Amino acid sequence: MSHVDAQSLHVAVLYPDLLNLYGDRGNARALERRCEARGIEATVTGVDIGDEWSPEDADIVLVGGGQDREQRRVQADLERRGDDLRQYVDDDGVVLAVCGGFQLFGHHYRGWDGEVMPGIGLFDAVAAHPGPKIARCVGNVVVLWEGETVVGFENHGGRTYLNDNQAPFGDVVTGFGNNGGDGLEGARVKNAFGTYLHGAVLPKNPHLADRLLALALERRYGPDSADLAPLDDSAARKAHAEALHAALSTSESALGRRFA
Ligand code: GLN
Repeated sequence: MSHVDAQSLHVAVLYPDLLNLYGDRGNARALERRCEARGIEATVTGVDIGDEWSPEDADIVLVGGGQDREQRRVQADLERRGDDLRQYVDDDGVVLAVCGGFQLFGHHYRGWDGEVMPGIGLFDAVAAHPGPKIARCVGNVVVLWEGETVVGFENHGGRTYLNDNQAPFGDVVTGFGNNGGDGLEGARVKNAFGTYLHGAVLPKNPHLADRLLALALERRYGPDSADLAPLDDSAARKAHAEALHAALSTSESALGRRFA
């Protein structure tokens, strides 16, 4: 019998300590567990400000949310990685960028104090905070993504606006999404997904976690590798069903607190 090497995936988490609102680092843990259960070796590497790192070695890049202060701290470091990250996405690299990270993956984010933080322009979108007197977008969100529901929690002052040819991640079923006005949530370019959904989002949306894994495996090992073995993930599916029920039974998201 021929020996088949175990598959392996490298997950990189950008700024795991600074951009980790509402447990976004749990996204890496969810991917790791779903790999482990399938005999796929997953290594998770944190990338901090100043670290020598190239996305060339990564299969999945994760970045979480953070308040304006943390976004400002990472901004310059992220900007210097912009060319590499755009190249990686051009080469079909997989990305999940959440909230504050998503905002900085667009062209720019204008914070609550009016100061503009340049982003890396991976998504054709801009984000702006309307100022401390305007309510934040807070509450449970349900998004319709390719015929399936994705559930999460949002808490952002900034509003994102997609330019004309930028595809969203999905459509808002309940919640605010990108800006509370156009019914759109997140953004997608190739295998890069941006979203406002915290939670962390992947542990309670196993179908989204598996999509990221399938895209990454296909890119590294070819199309035959995209068929993932089924898992006993009843706990994750239950978490999804409960979050969906909770989100749909509250008629409107709570209006938020007024700090950035
Ligand atoms: N500081 C940003 C905002 O309020 C992002 C917040 C977040 O990541 N939850 O819009």
